[in-house]
Amino acid sequence: MRTFTTLLLLAVAAFATAQTSEANPYADKYIYQGYLKDYKLGQAAEAYSAIDTMLQTYIPEQNQPAMPRELALVSLDQLLHDTDNDATAPFYNFINTRMKRVLKDLDRPVSEGLRIYKLYNDGFIIKSKKATVAIDLIPGGPDNKPFITDSVIYGIAGKCDALFISHWHPDHANLNIAKSFAARGKRVIAPKDLWVGADPLIQPLDEHKETHIEFADLDLTLHVLPGHQGDIYNNINVVEFHGAGTVAQTGDQWGREDDLAWIDHVHEKYDIDVFMPNCWMDQLQRAIEGFGPKLIITGHENELGEHSIDHREAYWITIKKMELMAELELPYVLMTWGEWYDYKK
Ligand SMILES: [Zn+2]
Ligand SMILES: [Zn+2]
Repeated sequence: MRTFTTLLLLAVAAFATAQTSEANPYADKYIYQGYLKDYKLGQAAEAYSAIDTMLQTYIPEQNQPAMPRELALVSLDQLLHDTDNDATAPFYNFINTRMKRVLKDLDRPVSEGLRIYKLYNDGFIIKSKKATVAIDLIPGGPDNKPFITDSVIYGIAGKCDALFISHWHPDHANLNIAKSFAARGKRVIAPKDLWVGADPLIQPLDEHKETHIEFADLDLTLHVLPGHQGDIYNNINVVEFHGAGTVAQTGDQWGREDDLAWIDHVHEKYDIDVFMPNCWMDQLQRAIEGFGPKLIITGHENELGEHSIDHREAYWITIKKMELMAELELPYVLMTWGEWYDYKK
C-alpha cells in the first residue's frame, strides 16, 4: 500500500512538473495553439528583428540590392502589407529602434558631400558639412499613438536647421513638428496656404510659383518648383547645398501633364545630384530624365496611414520599376526607414 501511495505521489509530482515552465521553459512562451493573434505577433517580432539585423549587415548601396538585402526588404513588404500587423508592438519597436539610430547618427559630422537619411514616410534629412535639412518630417500614425515616439521624433527635429514641406497631406506635414522648429528659431518653408499665421518662422509661399530662398547662415539655397498632386499645391523642394550637392524631393507629385511639360526641362536649369521622387509618381522615367540626376533615391514606400495595401507601395515594386529603367543607366539606392547613404559629387 505504501509503495502504491509513493508511486501515485511520484506520478502526480511528475505530472505537475511537466506542466510548469520550469521544466519546459518554452512551453508557455512558444505554444500558440488557440492563440492566433499572439502567434502573429510572435512571428512578426522575430521577423522584424531578423530584418533589422540583416539590413545592418547589408547596408544601402548603389543599384540592385544584394540578395540578402533584397530578401530583407521584400520580407518587410510582406509584414507591412499584412494589416494584422498594423499598429502592433513589433512594428512600433522596429520603427523606433531604427529611428533612434538616426537620432544618434545625426551627431556624426559630414566632412564632404551629403549624408541622406530616409525616414518615415516620404521624409528625408540631408546633412552637409554646414547644414542639416529636413523635408516632410513627420511622426506618422494617429495623433494619439504616433509611430515614432515624441522623444525620438522631436530629438531628430532638434538636430535639424530647417524644415521644408511639400504639401499639406498628413503623411508629409505635421504642424507640431513645424512648431518645434520655429520654437528653436528655425525656419519652415511650406506650400501656399498651409499654416498661414501659425508662426512668423513658419513661412508658406505667397504664390505657388518657382521661388528661390536663401539660407545664408546654412550656405544653401532652396529652390521651390511649383508641382501638384492633382489639384493640390505640391512644392518640389530643390535644395542646393553650395559646394556639396543639390537634391530634389518631389513630395507627392502626381497626375499633371502640364507639370511634366516643365519637369522635362529642369535639368537645363538645375544641376541635380540626387533625385528623390515618390516611388509611385506617374511617368517616373520621364520625370527622372527631366531632372537629369546623378543618383536616384526613391521615397514613400510602405505608407501605412491612409493607404490600402494596393497603394502602400512595396520595395519590390521599386526594384522592378528600376529594372525596367535600366536603359537610363542611372544608379539608384533603395533605402528603408532609418538608413542613410553618403553621396559625394
Ligand atoms: Zn499627398
Ligand atoms: Zn504622400
